[in-house]
Amino acid sequence: MKNIPVIMIIFGGSGDLAHRKLYPSLFNLYEQGLIHDNFAVIGTARRPWSHEYLREQVSDAIHETHDQVDENEVKAFASHFYYQSHDVTNVEHYVTLKKLAQELDDRYSAQGNRLFYMAMAPRFFGTIATHINDQHLTGSGFNRIVVEKPFGHDLASAEQLNKEITASFDENDIFRIDHYLGKEMIQNIMPMRFTNPLIKNIWSGEYIKNIQITLAERLGVEARGGYYDTSGALRDMVQNHIFQIITLLAMPEPKDLSSDSVHQAKQELLKSLIIPTPEEVEKNFVRGQYLGSDTTFAYKKEPNVDPDSTTETYVAGKTKFTSGPIAGVPIYFRTGKEFKEKKTRIDIVLKHINNPYGQAHSNNITIEVDPESKIYITINGKKIDEPGIRREDLTYVFSKEEMAKVPDGYERLLHDVFVNDSTNFTHWSELKRYWEFIDAVEDAWQKENEAGNPEIAQYLPYRMGPKEADNIFESPTEHWIYE
Ligand code: NAD
Repeated sequence: MKNIPVIMIIFGGSGDLAHRKLYPSLFNLYEQGLIHDNFAVIGTARRPWSHEYLREQVSDAIHETHDQVDENEVKAFASHFYYQSHDVTNVEHYVTLKKLAQELDDRYSAQGNRLFYMAMAPRFFGTIATHINDQHLTGSGFNRIVVEKPFGHDLASAEQLNKEITASFDENDIFRIDHYLGKEMIQNIMPMRFTNPLIKNIWSGEYIKNIQITLAERLGVEARGGYYDTSGALRDMVQNHIFQIITLLAMPEPKDLSSDSVHQAKQELLKSLIIPTPEEVEKNFVRGQYLGSDTTFAYKKEPNVDPDSTTETYVAGKTKFTSGPIAGVPIYFRTGKEFKEKKTRIDIVLKHINNPYGQAHSNNITIEVDPESKIYITINGKKIDEPGIRREDLTYVFSKEEMAKVPDGYERLLHDVFVNDSTNFTHWSELKRYWEFIDAVEDAWQKENEAGNPEIAQYLPYRMGPKEADNIFESPTEHWIYE
């Protein structure tokens, strides 16, 4: 790996994301020699911290995430960090920031390369982008920007934000991050689909009956009730993570593995995404809110949540494409808070075939993404001592030692930004399409809300969500595989 000279500016340097993910990930890249001498990081936030205090924070972040570290390495790494007290809404503060970036550029021979990371509340993204542009914060080398989720609240706000960012950055330099795309098993979808004749040859509507995606969260909204009530499960999880997974499952084979080819394949597919009509939303989507228990609040009683809220903490839905290898195959998805367990799982359900044994189940291919990482295929064989068919799993699984080596999604994706590989980031044209779909569902729900009788299923906490979601299937022979 080569050394990439760069001055990185993190907006939100005192925040949770920076502390838990960015600092430890940068340290891991430093330890591997990807970034060594010619880099400096400027952490910015409003608090009046000193360089030394930020360095202590960085060191703490590393100790909290690593069992064993070389203290000299930690010290050397932290010495590359600088703090700048900065209110992102104050124009003058960008002047000071620019000066510091230039000083550090000289000191570290960073060749005018700048990497901006927006690690703060999304309402500030547009402001930061505008000021970077107006105050000429970009350097004379490469200029890249990483934008956290959510990228907009709907299509109109995403378009506005994109306009503000593209005033200073080319599409190729904008890294819209979705940490799901850094996950081991999500990155395994393409090799699994395209290198196995066994799988590649059945990847069509002729053999696949449906695909099911579940992103189950065990927790409720916790302290984030105020924010969550303005968002909901559809915007929070479907617009980004679930649609990224759907796209990887349904896209045609790219002509090679370059970022351009992968995005081209995705974009080709997304043109044929069917945007649901209000009638289809009513039929194919279920939204829900969790009820309370002896020890937990119902969603509507959570702190900072409107007691008459119509925001969904659960959504199940269906989507389809009119082109691509699995054109016409229903893709069902569901996500929500207060499921029985935290799990991300994809089930590919194959069609039943006529056979002389009659009762045999169809095969399923399951990809477990979190918390375990494995792929398994259900296989039928004969029972040993009685007539009939038994079902066993063929499993592709990592050892504990291998799992320990899997880098965190943020580490992988930050590495990709340094080496300018945008394969696992969201291109604007993809994001736009996702928002068109989400807006269609949100608009239909909004109309239902305004009509005064919205159908919002109330579900018991720590189970599998509302039973109404069992009715979104196209045929009575379909059901949720993960129960
Ligand atoms: P946070 O609230 O912990 O941190 C926000 C940061 O912004 C803090 O450093 C705060 O001081 C700073 N800030 C607030 N107002 C400011 C202002 N006017 N000027 C300058 N600085 C200001 O938030 P977070 O959890 O770190 O999330 C940041 C972003 O990352 C969000 O977009 C979030 O959706 C995304 N994200 C976070 C996580 C996570 O695990 N925390 C995971 C995925 C995505």
